[in-house]
Amino acid sequence: MTQTPTESEPLADCVLCGEPTEYPASTRGATYCPVCEWQEAQRTACFG
Ligand SMILES: [Zn+2]
Repeated sequence: MTQTPTESEPLADCVLCGEPTEYPASTRGATYCPVCEWQEAQRTACFG
């Protein structure tokens, strides 16, 4: 949560909308932009 992304590192694209995320391209797994991440958080909250 307190990650500070480095400016030199390329950012991964959101797997849902293709917008650039706050995560580096080296991040494993699916990456979401702030908007989609929030939406996913709301969605997954329903499934527990
Ligand atoms: Zn997105």
